[in-house]
Amino acid sequence: MNGPGMEFPLSETIFDVAIFGGGPAGYTAAIRGAEYGLKVALIEQSDKLGGTCLHVGCIPTKALLFNAEIWEHLQHAADFGIEGIGAPTLDWAAVLKRKDAIIAKHVKGLDFLMKKHKIARIEGYGRLTGPAHHPGDKDPSPGTPGQDGVHSVEITAASGEVSPLKAKNIILATGSAAKMLPGLNADERILTNIEILSLNQLPKSLVVIGAGAVGMEFASMFRTFGTEVTIVEFLPRVVPVEDEEISKEITRLFKKRGIDMNTGARVEKVEKTEGGVKVSYTDSNGNTQAKEAEKVLVAVGRAPRTEDIGVEKTKIELERGFVKVDEAQETTEPGVFAIGDIVAGLPQLAHVGAMAGMVAVAKIAGRKFRPIRRDRIPGCTYTEPQIGSVGLTEAQAREKGYEVKVGKFPFAGNSKATILGSHDGFVKIVSDAKYGEILGVHILGPQATELIAEAVAVMELEGTVEEMIFTIHAHPTLAESLLDAYGAVDGMAINA
Ligand SMILES: Cc1cc2nc3c(=O)[nH]c(=O)nc-3n(C[C@H](O)[C@H](O)[C@H](O)COP(=O)(O)OP(=O)(O)OC[C@H]3O[C@@H](n4cnc5c(N)ncnc54)[C@H](O)[C@@H]3O)c2cc1C
Repeated sequence: MNGPGMEFPLSETIFDVAIFGGGPAGYTAAIRGAEYGLKVALIEQSDKLGGTCLHVGCIPTKALLFNAEIWEHLQHAADFGIEGIGAPTLDWAAVLKRKDAIIAKHVKGLDFLMKKHKIARIEGYGRLTGPAHHPGDKDPSPGTPGQDGVHSVEITAASGEVSPLKAKNIILATGSAAKMLPGLNADERILTNIEILSLNQLPKSLVVIGAGAVGMEFASMFRTFGTEVTIVEFLPRVVPVEDEEISKEITRLFKKRGIDMNTGARVEKVEKTEGGVKVSYTDSNGNTQAKEAEKVLVAVGRAPRTEDIGVEKTKIELERGFVKVDEAQETTEPGVFAIGDIVAGLPQLAHVGAMAGMVAVAKIAGRKFRPIRRDRIPGCTYTEPQIGSVGLTEAQAREKGYEVKVGKFPFAGNSKATILGSHDGFVKIVSDAKYGEILGVHILGPQATELIAEAVAVMELEGTVEEMIFTIHAHPTLAESLLDAYGAVDGMAINA
């Protein structure tokens, strides 16, 4: 019975775990659950697995950003002694086609993995119908859907057909959707991450509202392709979750690239004009400003999809729409877990959702697990230059009462960065003066999103600055900049 592509009406099989949502959180939980030997059902409303991440998030944006990187290199081909390629032109349709092919390849890959792991893939929309009864419950009231710890959930097919499904555990992995500014709806000029990824031509001008990772990545990409870009951010600095020095330096570099940066600016009105859209805002000095552009991207955060999944029929507690969980990702309703973008208190990142999925199924399978630690989560922003960070910012470390020691090393002193022709940025180590504990690592520069992996591993293994100073880093590599930054904590960088 347990096999891919289950048809309606669904079978009477009692699954060990039924997962709502086939994004990175849900499909990772499904695969790891199957690897543990659990009988798994994965319920996804779309006919394609992958969620926001694969279809309109991580993967398509990084594909386009790689195109932007190649484009940028081509503009400077002569610096590398490459002549005769003339003036390169951009075939935007081909760029989008490549992006779509990458997505299609990975959709197929996920289908293959579902079959390989004998995961029951159900195309439909899942809803909780009430709590499950647990053997320990004193007074299981009759008539509620679950019996003896088995949850009965309701799955609605695209045809409208509804079928019950039984599982001992439920994992909610329903993800998130882009927030809109009040009174606005997405269309061909007012864009979210969905519409902007399939524009049939490059916009001449773009206003980006919101300078978190999503807004900054689109700003960076379109600027590289020649779009006139304006950023309007409500908070006093861009990428506000990053260390302040990172925000400051990337602001300087974006300005240098000709991006119009406006922080501390409140959007007052977005209105359609004959040729595009006009964004009116109050700037940081309290003056009214307006910017007209062909398109506007609204990137002001993502709302959890926790409405209309039957949460109100259970004891699940929400916090501003996000689901509260314990360290095993279990909600306040026994046997119901939550992972991914809907979870309260965790950043909305694919790798966090995936790890939360692995934690939840480990708990369900009775295996050992390590709870997710907020200060061990890498954050990556694939701008030019990139940002990779983990742990506490300098300000957060000081707020927590640490005696902080900082080491900083600029990529200007790194030979591999010179080879790449990519000197902007730095590595910053935030450490505890007393024991040399590494509290945070903040990288702005080439391949920062790859380099941060070393820092995450070191922090996970509780390495110290002293240990890292004596850790051999291959030469010439960008990773040597980390070695120099650890040295700089004690005033002992070699290359600066
Ligand atoms: C433009 C953009 C770029 C991003 N880039 C990155 C990046 O580089 N790195 C990174 O880590 N993160 C990135 N993110 C964030 C990342 O996409 C999300 O954190 C991730 O997709 C969350 O995974 P999830 O499984 O929780 O939810 P989702 O990926 O949103 O998947 C949820 C799935 O559940 C399905 N679903 C919803 N309700 C139901 C239901 N009741 N029944 C059945 N199915 C249901 C949906 O159809 C969807 O397929 C980016 C996001 C955006 C918007």
